Amino acid sequence: MATDITTDRLRELAETRSAQGKVLSVFINLDPREFAAPPARATEISSVIDEASRAIRDHGALTHDERMALGRDVDRVRDQLRAGLDADGARGLAVFASEPAGLFEILKLPRPVATKVAIADHPCVEPLAQIGAGELWWLVLVDRRRARLLAGTIDGLVELWRQDDETKGQHDQGGWSQSRYQRSIEKEVEDHLRAVGAELQRRVRSTRIAGLLIGGSKENVAQLESLLHADVARCVQGHFDVDVWNSSADEVLAAARPVLEGLGMRRDRELLQKIDEGLGKGGRAAAGLADVLTAVHERRIDTLVVQEGFTAMGTRCPQCGWLGVSAGGQCPADGTQTDVVDNIVEVAVGRAFGQSAHVRYLPATDPDLEHKGSIAALLRF
Ligand SMILES: [Zn+2]
Repeated sequence: MATDITTDRLRELAETRSAQGKVLSVFINLDPREFAAPPARATEISSVIDEASRAIRDHGALTHDERMALGRDVDRVRDQLRAGLDADGARGLAVFASEPAGLFEILKLPRPVATKVAIADHPCVEPLAQIGAGELWWLVLVDRRRARLLAGTIDGLVELWRQDDETKGQHDQGGWSQSRYQRSIEKEVEDHLRAVGAELQRRVRSTRIAGLLIGGSKENVAQLESLLHADVARCVQGHFDVDVWNSSADEVLAAARPVLEGLGMRRDRELLQKIDEGLGKGGRAAAGLADVLTAVHERRIDTLVVQEGFTAMGTRCPQCGWLGVSAGGQCPADGTQTDVVDNIVEVAVGRAFGQSAHVRYLPATDPDLEHKGSIAALLRF
């Protein structure tokens, strides 16, 4: 499973600005339900690249140099993708290219994306936010002698580590009493689970995770949990039953999915509740597009919550970056004539990443968020 997106990478992309030229962003849908066979994938890739060429040709506001540079960007994307990208398992691709900004990147996506071509002075990162990046979960699977650790999101997992601590269940029982033999086996199981706990403790020091789920039989899960160091124990958020050794990453995800979905829903409810509390006290929260844009511009976003599919026109000051909902007019801060932006929500999401904020997308049907104007935020100050 391909998951090239990390929160840090998203932040770097969101912060990339091209002073001289433009940035080409291309999203290619490789949904296996539609494009299973390699020829179908190749055709889709070619057709999106043609679309990018047309978008550059038809763009009304490019300088000669920008147009030339973008043309070379498209050529490079075409060459790279034709050269045979190892896109196995990828359900979509995101490409960011800008010769003047020294940017060229192809990311494999774990989830299908809508095909899209964008030309702007920054990489278009919003479709990546919708994939749920930044919510990294760990799933550790254990039985009496083996363990696996997988990491990822509700959209896809990768295996990080596996271990087979072959218990000497095989060793010679000769000369040992049955009970002493039993005790020695139980000791080995405990040593194995302690070693798993130590491995998790070592790894958790260097990674920020949303939480840890433990998979396996009830008995093994409970025993592992009882042996975990406090640093790891506090990350545990749920359990699930799964074939520890022979399940694929997709099968592990399918087994854990109900737990992950339940936790996601609970976090979303808690988030909205915190926003309500903040709004009630006139404190650290904002709701509605105008107030949220102000907070984005002031770099105050802790967590941005957006209703899926929500778009709106707006304006941006080319001088100071001020964002507003009105269509046109002057920047209130410096009087500069503002630019009209087709989708200001996308700009807000990109900026939020640039200030290390979390971004959560809620289903379009969420009545609570709709009531708040389809966008809201928890603020840092
Ligand atoms: Zn301004």
